Amino acid sequence: MTTPLHGQMMDVPLTVSSLLAHASRHFGTTEIVSKRIEGDVHRYTYRDCEKRAKQLAQALIALGVEAGDRIGTLAWNGYRHLETYYGTTGFGAVCHTINPRLFPDQIAWIINDADDRYILFDTTFAQLIDRLAQRCPRVRGWIVLTDDEHLPAMRSPTPLVSYETLLEPHDGTFDWPLLDERQASYLCYTSGTTGNPKGALYSHRSTVLHALGASLPDAMGLSSRDSVLPVVPMFHVNAWGIPHAAPLTGAKLVFPGNHLDGESLFELMETERVTCSNGVPTVWLGLLNYMKEAGVRFSSLQRTGIGGSTCPPAMLRTFEDEYGVEAIHGWGMTEMSPIGTLATLNWDQSQRPPEEQRRLRENQGHVIYGVDMKIVGDDGRDLPWDGVAFGELHVRGPWVIERYFQKDDSPLVNGWFPTGDVATIDRDGFMRITDRCKDVIKSGGEWISSIEVENLAMAHPAVAEAACIACAHPKWSQRPLLVIVKHKDVEVTRDELLALYEGKVAKWWIPDDIVFVNELPHTATGKLNKLKLRELFRDHVLPLQREVPNCPHSKRGAAGSGSTPAPE
Ligand code: AMP
Repeated sequence: MTTPLHGQMMDVPLTVSSLLAHASRHFGTTEIVSKRIEGDVHRYTYRDCEKRAKQLAQALIALGVEAGDRIGTLAWNGYRHLETYYGTTGFGAVCHTINPRLFPDQIAWIINDADDRYILFDTTFAQLIDRLAQRCPRVRGWIVLTDDEHLPAMRSPTPLVSYETLLEPHDGTFDWPLLDERQASYLCYTSGTTGNPKGALYSHRSTVLHALGASLPDAMGLSSRDSVLPVVPMFHVNAWGIPHAAPLTGAKLVFPGNHLDGESLFELMETERVTCSNGVPTVWLGLLNYMKEAGVRFSSLQRTGIGGSTCPPAMLRTFEDEYGVEAIHGWGMTEMSPIGTLATLNWDQSQRPPEEQRRLRENQGHVIYGVDMKIVGDDGRDLPWDGVAFGELHVRGPWVIERYFQKDDSPLVNGWFPTGDVATIDRDGFMRITDRCKDVIKSGGEWISSIEVENLAMAHPAVAEAACIACAHPKWSQRPLLVIVKHKDVEVTRDELLALYEGKVAKWWIPDDIVFVNELPHTATGKLNKLKLRELFRDHVLPLQREVPNCPHSKRGAAGSGSTPAPE
């Protein structure tokens, strides 16, 4: 065997600190603006941010924190949280972002599982910390992300110190060490609806490669001319990588803190001339409702990334047709750092008729370089990319997990990560999520896409939120039940909603019943909690067994091998 000829280029490791160092040196005066919990606006620059991140690194090292130690955060999007991102990972510690919307029991469980050394938290979470501190005996200290003046009154955790007091003795003259790029950078737990959450442990290499991929023109397309406002929380999958992609590209960063209502977001977007923003559909719903009621329009926003759960087509249309803002639907997951696909069009696709373009962009989209995907049937075989066959979506790539934190067995199947999402992929390579594997509705052995059913309901102006779940049925085993939250002051009847489906989907996809409720249960990351919903409607009795026409119930083969009969 001949020895391979190696390239002769520098082996410079890809480290998270290099992103902030780059911004500090080349975009040193570019601003980072944060709406603080107190309501005032804080502004400083990338250069200031790097200095303070270094002060934090010095402080943590002085406290005895070592490379590999986990440092937990319970915090909103803001400059101190950003400093924590870099001040921990910069010297090899691991930044463990914790979702404060989880139940306290789960948070305590996560802190103990991660074995966090210190926890940094925003003042809004003082009571929460009071409740869980005693259950986390291995945490050495609790740091409040504020100054002494604003320290909240708290009962229990000791030692307790304000962040500003911790930083004060340190001068920020510190060189980021050259770490091995395979060292751990961030720890993010999934917000599973069943069982305990599982940790995804990113590396410096995966974080930096993801930031590069996320910044590409056909992804978030960030640049130093952008002002970017991540609404998606920094405690949820690193705010989709924006805190890394922004310093990489030199984009101005705007943080909303905990001011996430429509009016506050709109005002911040306007005053900071935000060009690009990212968040889950629920947040945009609040913003769009506010804008409609207040009769206001965006003056700087150019594009918005929407993901985390299915973006209703009606929302894409509102952004584009009413406000002239490009809405980019994307898909990803904690296990993927998180970006997997985005629905932007290439040159050829953008020449097609407007309706065809729209249809493409309603999908979850194409992969970006760095992610490889395929769909597999029940028998484990790859399925065709014809837009019809559907099966479980598998992915692989340098920012996809290989195994979960503290778990020995690998979840991979032949080197691919099974996402638990059910999808189709069309000839354009556009992926469309039809369901979570566990939310799939099987009627007479055939799959019904709950997401398609929900999307059609969401197109009605009276519908604020829709969830389609499986309901037990004596003949068909399961039938779809649609649960609706109406907008206030807009009326719609069950029959009007059912009429929406006529001619748009196969007759056997039409829900057997529609129930109106005041609210739907959500997970800690704002996704519909269908597990809870199914429990709530476990005893629901469907109207007298409707005959379900044309349901190809006799043969399970199609669904089993991953293909669905074409809707009529
Ligand atoms: P998380 O790890 O909490 O970010 O959740 C990831 C899961 O959210 C994915 O596996 C999908 O089930 C769902 N998800 C994310 N983005 C989308 C999207 N655009 N459409 C539908 N489901 C999505």
